Amino acid sequence: MLGKTHMAVGVAATLALTNPTTITELVLGSGIGALGAVISDIDVGTSESHKEADKIIAIVTIILIAIGVLDHFWGLGIWNRMKSNRIIYQIVIAALVFIGICAYGKEQPHRSFMHSFLALGLLSAAMAVIYPVAVKYFAVGFLSHIALDIFNYKRVRLLYPMKKGVCFKLAHSNGMANDIAFITAVIVAILEVILVLWEKFGWLLRL
Ligand SMILES: [Zn+2]
Repeated sequence: MLGKTHMAVGVAATLALTNPTTITELVLGSGIGALGAVISDIDVGTSESHKEADKIIAIVTIILIAIGVLDHFWGLGIWNRMKSNRIIYQIVIAALVFIGICAYGKEQPHRSFMHSFLALGLLSAAMAVIYPVAVKYFAVGFLSHIALDIFNYKRVRLLYPMKKGVCFKLAHSNGMANDIAFITAVIVAILEVILVLWEKFGWLLRL
């Protein structure tokens, strides 16, 4: 599947399964869910070019900046909560470990380590030190990516380092199934955002 489809499905799945009720949860769920949904494909194009991988890194950077900006201007308390009860160097080390795991995964064959339960476990553990609340959003986004890729034609090595992989050979990554998944996910994600905003601010319209 294409990056935009993974991102849309990741956000829709994360919001549907984690039921955000506050703006903070909505921002974190969408952002970290999207991050989890795109990070696996950092392993594409390891042979010829790193263009696709660079794109993923750029998307992740934009997501993190967006969360930071919204946190700052809307006073969501994400940064304050991240710092509380933890020593800053633990967060920095865990972030470096997270980046290190991704750097290793970037050099592995496509749909191997970065598409495995092992990577999910290691990255979630690092995320648990950086920001425990975000683990569930990350995990749902990550799993949504693997679930979509399984329908594809290239084997996904879920149990890396084992060599065996899974694929259902049902959909091409840029075919009609991709378009349908993308459009459905965008509609579902928008409806979920509206639902949270309605529960939060619906009373304003009734004034
Ligand atoms: Zn993938």
